[in-house]
Amino acid sequence: MGGLLRNIIDITPPLRAASAVFPGDARYEARTTFAMGPGCPVNVTAFTMSVHCGAHADAPLHYAAGAASIDQVPLDDFVGPARVIDVRGASALVGPETLAGRLEGVPQRVLLRLTDGLDPDVWPTGFRALAPETVELLAAAGVRLVGVDVPSVDPETSKDLPSHMAFFRHDMRILENLDLSKVPEGEFELIALPIPLEGLDAAPVRAILRSLA
Ligand SMILES: [Zn+2]
Repeated sequence: MGGLLRNIIDITPPLRAASAVFPGDARYEARTTFAMGPGCPVNVTAFTMSVHCGAHADAPLHYAAGAASIDQVPLDDFVGPARVIDVRGASALVGPETLAGRLEGVPQRVLLRLTDGLDPDVWPTGFRALAPETVELLAAAGVRLVGVDVPSVDPETSKDLPSHMAFFRHDMRILENLDLSKVPEGEFELIALPIPLEGLDAAPVRAILRSLA
């Protein structure tokens, strides 16, 4: 049996009241519905938050009116071989030249590490993002899903969302707010399934990597 056990790296930041959200978006809030005590055998909690809080998958509906909601997105792209690529640097946008020579034999999933690691409780004003040409390059290489360790694939102040639109053109999937701070570059198995929130524009994921060895 031991041979079947493989190392799990959890790349999901914690969700809690302090979790940072896009300025103006709904923060995480939890409240007790039932509290264990005399006559009550259980604890039950209700919570509310933006569907973009913490690690999540964007649905096409997030950036294109009438497009697929997160419950309509096929799950295949969210499970399978993935390459982690370190693209840390000083540029505001990660350009396609960053990936030169790094996409040979690339699997259908790529996780890009843009930062040294963000504090999940602090909104990272001015965070790095992807140039749309980078998304085009990944699409041309056959990549179906891209995950990042920042809140968005476009800059916070972007209004036309050119990278999101590149994802839309190629019907590719997006994972945001991953914690890649403890992950070395290399090949892994990704599992990051969005919960089927009917009709919504994104959903939280529990994202893990498993080593292939
Ligand atoms: Zn999002």
